[in-house]
Amino acid sequence: MTGQNKKAMLETFLREAAALLREASCAYAFTGAGVSTESGIPDFRSPTGLWSNPELMALATGDAFRRDPARFYTAFLPQWLKYREAAPNPAHRALAELEAFGRLGGVITQNIDGLHRKAGSRTVWEIHGHLRHLVCDDCRKTAPFEVATEALAQGALPPRCACGGVLRPDVVLFGEAMAPDFERALATLRRGCDLMLVVGSSLSVYPAASLVEFADELIIVNRDPTPYDHRAAVILRHSAGEVLPRLVAAVKAA
Ligand code: NAD
Repeated sequence: MTGQNKKAMLETFLREAAALLREASCAYAFTGAGVSTESGIPDFRSPTGLWSNPELMALATGDAFRRDPARFYTAFLPQWLKYREAAPNPAHRALAELEAFGRLGGVITQNIDGLHRKAGSRTVWEIHGHLRHLVCDDCRKTAPFEVATEALAQGALPPRCACGGVLRPDVVLFGEAMAPDFERALATLRRGCDLMLVVGSSLSVYPAASLVEFADELIIVNRDPTPYDHRAAVILRHSAGEVLPRLVAAVKAA
């Protein structure tokens, strides 16, 4: 296909996706690590993603955390400090704009980086948790995330609660129950979702990916194929930061 044909096809898909968003009465976005790669945060399953390091993958479980929390923090804390310093990119801002324009009911995200809120999205379900605070594994009291940074600087990992328990990040590790936002998102989708705008997810992590099954129609914005492509009304196989602002412009142009 020539470059010109590709460009024309993208324009057509953008028009179709914009029409679906304009007509939907109950649309939500569902996002994954790919929406944040353009903010400098690596995803898991791209060739340069975090899971290209199998050792790191083996450490991301609830069992591994409990077995050796200091090792867990040593492996993940430097990465998470980058997440906390990252800035939203045009894809995050486009989703916030669609919500402000009344075309999205909110964003369901698998990400823990907090960038949707930073971009101005108001209704955000963080189904795998977030990095805004730590929580004690014993007494469940919360503590500022900075307690972990201080413990790292003092060579005193893992961070501990006043009760002596280990403080953990408020995120969902493999093998653990979902965050309370998962049930909230599920309840919202059960009330009706005629369109879901999926952005930057391989749709291969469960039960998170099962949420897309509640939507009547899907628009998928992802660089690589996903197991739900056959169900999508429109697929935009492009960078989210590049196409989402154009999608917003197309929605507003009508
Ligand atoms: P994933 O790594 O499995 O898939 C990411 C997908 O995004 C890939 O298919 C890739 O092709 C696509 N992609 C990458 N950059 C893109 C871009 N700029 N535009 C469009 N598509 C792009 O990620 P997942 O599906 O979210 O599942 C993995 C788990 O990773 C989630 O549970 C999430 O909690 C966790 N995670 C979160 C962060 C974060 O908070 N930013 C980072 C890494 C992993």
